[in-house]
Amino acid sequence: MSDIKAELFINGKYRKSSSGETLSIYNPNDDSLVTDQVHVASEKDVNDAVAAAKAAFPKWSRMAGHRRAAIMLKFADLLEKNIDKLAKLESVAMGQPISMAKGMIRGPAALWRFYAGFAGKIAGQSFPPDEDGTYKIVKYEPLGVCGGICAWNGTHVLAAWKMAPAMAAGNTFVLKTSEKSPLSAAAYGDLLNEAGFPPGVINILTGAGPTGAVLASHMDVEKIAFTGSAQAGRKVMEAAAKSNLKHVSLELGGKSPALIFDDAHLENAVKHTSISFLMNSGQICFASTRVLVQEGIAPKYIEAVKKSFQNAEKMMGDPSLKETAFGPLADQKQFERVMGFLRDAQQEGVQVLVGGERKGDKGAFVQPTVFLNPDLKSKVYTEEIFGPVISVTTFKDEAEAIKLANDTTYGLGSTIYTSDIARALRVADEIEAGTVGINSAFNTSPQTPFGGYKHSGLGRESGYAGLHAYLQPKTIHINMKTPLPAKL
Ligand code: NAD
Repeated sequence: MSDIKAELFINGKYRKSSSGETLSIYNPNDDSLVTDQVHVASEKDVNDAVAAAKAAFPKWSRMAGHRRAAIMLKFADLLEKNIDKLAKLESVAMGQPISMAKGMIRGPAALWRFYAGFAGKIAGQSFPPDEDGTYKIVKYEPLGVCGGICAWNGTHVLAAWKMAPAMAAGNTFVLKTSEKSPLSAAAYGDLLNEAGFPPGVINILTGAGPTGAVLASHMDVEKIAFTGSAQAGRKVMEAAAKSNLKHVSLELGGKSPALIFDDAHLENAVKHTSISFLMNSGQICFASTRVLVQEGIAPKYIEAVKKSFQNAEKMMGDPSLKETAFGPLADQKQFERVMGFLRDAQQEGVQVLVGGERKGDKGAFVQPTVFLNPDLKSKVYTEEIFGPVISVTTFKDEAEAIKLANDTTYGLGSTIYTSDIARALRVADEIEAGTVGINSAFNTSPQTPFGGYKHSGLGRESGYAGLHAYLQPKTIHINMKTPLPAKL
């Protein structure tokens, strides 16, 4: 692709990194070099971006809501208008099949439209004076300059979860994309200008961990919204605590359970724990990687899921082709990580139902893999793999299923398959996770909050909760009993 632009977008203009440092992107389909010109934002560049956002804040936060909404809506339209280009940029960088990459732009366009509806409509509350004689007003104000740090597995979704509510609330923004998938968000600059965002309102930076660390510890950034691993998330929280105690939201990893009861619709459960799970080659934070199956249905489920994973391998290939359903992993590093788990499983003697090897001899392809009844302390059962790998474990009854489901430090997603709605709701109440899908793989929606229990995160994105994460209440109390001034 000749039109790849991976410069920094600061104060409404593209510019090169002040340090001259760049990083390279290789296509995980065939290891070919896509570009060696991804500019790495230095400390100075981060400072400049934050300064631009700070300067833009007073005007943007006071701009009439309907005008801010119009700009956000136009940006959503431009995402869709440029869907082919943006999807291609995402696909060559991190291997997402082109059909899926397009879906991952339509969803975020809907998110921008959802949040545009809130601009200018964020009302406060008032309480009349009672015995205390105090009239009370609560108003909701933007925070100021907000920062976002993204993982690579859904660039546009992660960016929209952060920037769209921030814009509706009247904040300004500095986004740092992932070093694995920086190309499509780096192309936002022209679209942001065309939509009408004033210079400095949204700034887009490329770079790796050190760039993120500067943003997380910046004294003029009032909030940092992070998506990524628990390890980096902890560092972000630490940086926030050590700098200006900025607000922090963390969207981290998962080891989500799928609970399949004897009365479940078998084909539906198989479809969602195989084909739906394998979307993005299993690189979805809330995907159900620990399948728990009740003993009665287990033999049929195991036979069917084996076939489905075998078929899925046939649908795996070149992500640039529109018929490809499943692509490679994001890059060689991620490939090595997943292969490491497969080797560990081999050493630990875990039974492989299907897959377990690399696929082909080039690119970052791993066979869709199912492990059977791994030890509950094994690495493949306890740690997040982030690849096309599930484990299947059998259980006797509801109580055992819930115990197994909650036996993890994570708590992001979960799914329940049963024909008994009372059981579904009863189990949903007991699951320690931020999201529950019933009779379907969980899917996010602009209206509902998304985030994790336990080590899966802090705070929520999406929905009303996602909007309030970019606001701070201000309470004003008026003494209504002040005596009138004496007549002059
Ligand atoms: P990662 O933690 O390696 O990187 C995430 C981002 O953090 C990148 O932009 C990276 O440059 C940056 N970063 C790294 N070190 C940093 C530091 N010290 N300070 C500031 N920024 C730093 O994670 P990844 O490999 O990009 O993504 C995979 C992980 O993300 C998985 O654990 C997955 O579950 C999680 N994830 C979670 C969600 C969610 O919404 N909960 C969504 C997608 C991915």
